[in-house]
Amino acid sequence: MIKIRGLTKRYGDLEALRGIDLDVAPGEFLVVLGPSGAGKSTLLRCINRLCTPTQGEIHVDGERVEAGGAGLRRVRRKVAMIFQHYNVVPRLSVRKNVLTGRLGTMPAPLSWFQIFPGRDVDIAMECLRRVELEGKAEQRTDTLSGGQKQRVGIARALAQQPRVILADEPVASLDPKTSRTVLTYLKQASQELGISVVCNLHQIDYAREFGERIVGVSGGRIVFEGGPDGLTADVLRRIYPGLEDRGEPAPRAWQPTRPHNLSVEEA
Ligand code: ADP
Ligand code: MG
Repeated sequence: MIKIRGLTKRYGDLEALRGIDLDVAPGEFLVVLGPSGAGKSTLLRCINRLCTPTQGEIHVDGERVEAGGAGLRRVRRKVAMIFQHYNVVPRLSVRKNVLTGRLGTMPAPLSWFQIFPGRDVDIAMECLRRVELEGKAEQRTDTLSGGQKQRVGIARALAQQPRVILADEPVASLDPKTSRTVLTYLKQASQELGISVVCNLHQIDYAREFGERIVGVSGGRIVFEGGPDGLTADVLRRIYPGLEDRGEPAPRAWQPTRPHNLSVEEA
């Protein structure tokens, strides 16, 4: 679904990405794990061309991602984003926030006047049901908790009916229990709808729990690629160099955990 070859990104002298090769399969839930500054956001931003690669090629669903034109619009319609700070419109209702996920598919005049065809409203409500927020559809979004706002963010991404969701640290602003709830909704939607998800995280525990496959990034390079059971203490030292030098405890080696329970509680 996503194919990245030789991706390099420089900001002046700084090499944020140094030759990334990566494939993401249809319907796969991929976690990109790495410390702050590793290049995770830059990688996601290159995929839908919010930033311009210095070198390398990216294909999404068989189409090369290039600057401008109808090709890029087609790619962007297939790729939805979820942000750390939710990026919801606080004064709008939950339903209208989710409907903004439909804007890319609508004729411009309808979107200017926020006239949403009934079919789009149905899609929005279906997406709200997936994150169990249909009961809050008419509520102003700024009355929701952080976890609920991010569930609106997920519903909005789903309303776009994308092939790919790029989630950039979607739970970095949430407490652990809420984080797990939000990641559970995201993973469940990915599995049920066959959407590929690339989810940036810096928390090792969540990567282990939710990643079907994990790519460890450090200093702009992929330093690990494999399943959750591959995240050994050695691998974690490669992803997080200096972890012990800073006096922090060595990361726990992987231990089997209970299979992930996909039932969710109220966030
Ligand atoms: P992460 O998301 O893993 O924290 P980023 O992709 O945000 O990493 O950043 C990777 C590196 O690129 C960092 O050193 C960061 O300071 C630098 N960087 C990111 N965006 C810019 C920018 N727009 N201009 C200059 N440097 C940037
Ligand atoms: Mg980032």
